[in-house]
Amino acid sequence: MPLVSVQSVSYKYNSESVLENVSFDIEEGDFLGIIGPNGAGKTTLFHCMLGLLNSYSGRITILNQDIKKYKKIFKKIGYIPQKKSIDQKFPLTVEELVSLSLPRNTSKNIVLEILKQVRLFTMKDKIIGQLSGGQQQRVLIAKALVNNPIILILDEPTNELDPKSQNDFYSLLKELNEKNKITIIWSSHDMDAVNKYANKVSCINKRMFFHGDKGEFFSSEDNIKNYSESTMQIHMHSHDL
Ligand code: ADP
Repeated sequence: MPLVSVQSVSYKYNSESVLENVSFDIEEGDFLGIIGPNGAGKTTLFHCMLGLLNSYSGRITILNQDIKKYKKIFKKIGYIPQKKSIDQKFPLTVEELVSLSLPRNTSKNIVLEILKQVRLFTMKDKIIGQLSGGQQQRVLIAKALVNNPIILILDEPTNELDPKSQNDFYSLLKELNEKNKITIIWSSHDMDAVNKYANKVSCINKRMFFHGDKGEFFSSEDNIKNYSESTMQIHMHSHDL
């Protein structure tokens, strides 16, 4: 049984079709990299999977249950959205901010353990606005981890990070995938990172063009070329503006 099953999902904003008949399965333990140009519908797909958008056609199941009737499952999915969702002026320390996400009656020691795991223990008393972009991303991961998630969904998490912080961030995701057995789903424009870390790849642009093993995707020159061309089109388009 797949962990997540997306079955013939289509979505429109008013009359604009954004997802068309998207189907794929995610297995427990997958580290899935989703690639596709800007506007391809990746965020919209995540929002459907997270129950933030409900008016899609088709069906999404997690552990074989329709998510429209299985809302409890959303507590077990950590989501790191694309836009920075930490208010830089929030007058809380790292430890206080992460503690806000603790379920009731849970020991505060868990927060310290998690801060150690995401390598922020020494920063625990810092005010959030004093942290670098990479450290703030790890605060968001820590906030998700206190709920003991089975899935983490990350929307272009490394877009604003320098190369060193990106590497640290991906190493952490790999550890969470391998050690904590968390299934990871992340969207990215970074083909090298997808090649390095993912075990599965999805290539989406309204429709699903590819879903399968990383090795299969990257062994096909056509796959790489098609993706590069669609990215180039977007760049050319933005230069025309
Ligand atoms: P991606 O994450 O791949 O960049 P999105 O899911 O954000 O793609 O967007 C897919 C398409 O849907 C884009 O054309 C975008 O302009 C449009 N879109 C996204 N959000 C909305 C919205 N709230 N209302 C109307 N159109 C939207």
